[in-house]
Amino acid sequence: MPAENLNYFAGIKKDFIYSARMFSQKMQQFYSLDSIKNSYNARISQIAEERKTGKKIVGTFCLFVPDEIILAAGADRMILCGGKNDTVPIAEQYLPRNICPLVKSSFGSIINNGCSGVKSCSHFCMVDMVVAENTCDSKKKMYELLGDYVPTYVIDLPQRPDSPEALKYFLGELDKFKVAMEQLTGNKVTVEQLKIEIKSSNDTRKLFHRLYSLRKMDPPPISGLDVLKVLQKQYFLSPDELKKSLRMLIREVEQVMADREPADIEPADIEPANRERRPRIMVSGCPMAGGNTKVPEIIESKGGVIVAEESCTGTRSFWDLVDEKKDPMLALAERYIKIPCSCMSPNDRRIDNILELAREFKVDGVVYYTLQFCHGYNIEKYKIQQALKKEGIPMLAIETDYGDSDVEQIGLRVDAFMEMLS
Ligand code: SF4
Ligand code: SF4
Repeated sequence: MPAENLNYFAGIKKDFIYSARMFSQKMQQFYSLDSIKNSYNARISQIAEERKTGKKIVGTFCLFVPDEIILAAGADRMILCGGKNDTVPIAEQYLPRNICPLVKSSFGSIINNGCSGVKSCSHFCMVDMVVAENTCDSKKKMYELLGDYVPTYVIDLPQRPDSPEALKYFLGELDKFKVAMEQLTGNKVTVEQLKIEIKSSNDTRKLFHRLYSLRKMDPPPISGLDVLKVLQKQYFLSPDELKKSLRMLIREVEQVMADREPADIEPADIEPANRERRPRIMVSGCPMAGGNTKVPEIIESKGGVIVAEESCTGTRSFWDLVDEKKDPMLALAERYIKIPCSCMSPNDRRIDNILELAREFKVDGVVYYTLQFCHGYNIEKYKIQQALKKEGIPMLAIETDYGDSDVEQIGLRVDAFMEMLS
């Protein structure tokens, strides 16, 4: 684990930190991750240059907004989700305290205004329009306030995706959204351009599949924390830069695999009781926006290794491809309406998906991650725990915020969970 990942451990017991360092010694460092980590300034400069040429920039907060339509209209996009704690108190001057930290952090960085405040979201002022979506209550109401700061367009989502009318309704919403993008940019969204963008996004999704397939190895060659940082950056980097970075990282990981000494690899057929191996963990639940790595840091410092993330900063973002043979708008509607977000009801698709991932990635246990006051994911926890229990997969539920007051307490619970899985 790189040293900067240890910021959550300030003031935590010595042996806790020690175990984090021991773990870090066993994991490979990947140089291509540095270029992803350092991409921030280059991307901001790129966006600034694009704006000078009249290109429009669209800010988004959610997976339900299809990038393909934004890009086909000739605009660029960037994510505005907040993952840092320092802007939460600012938001709490305007919003109730008991809503999820992701919404508070995002709103706090926006109202801190813009480009002058040290704690502000430095790219919010570059956005010409926010494209929002009707998902959870906190976000919906936050978007109403956002309209005072920036033009805000809301895509209405059908909340019962399996009902016969849902697809038609969503397709109508995407058609309206396409027109809004055409009006914003002054460019026509053509079928040909949509097909190009769909192929490009599918190529990125396939690269993520390749990266994830490497994590199926036992032990996996890359830490969950490293993968999470790439997943967080996917919404920020340009599509070309993201693909380039992913290809570099995959090549590097594959090379490490090829160079592995046989002694480094424990045969998968050794009985778990006789193995010295880290428990394979899947994290499932709320998204972890950039800057929020608290729980994965704790899991991996306590000896677990994260092999999959069922979240919007995980498989939900890339698992399903868009059908390139169909009419592009219909194919987009079909793909995006299937995202198993907890604001959908019923959401059994998510349970099936979690079980499938647990089998595919041979997970030993699931850490169910909920942000405080995220009622949707919190309530779904019950059904998911039942489903995992039937499969004999233990689950640890963690509900937390962006602060560090509970780090030690979470550490103790994760520790006990790891011991049980070992
Ligand atoms: S969890 Fe749901 S609302 Fe949040 S980003 Fe994902 S799809 Fe959107
Ligand atoms: S984490 Fe939950 S409450 Fe927060 S924005 Fe996402 S869905 Fe809404």
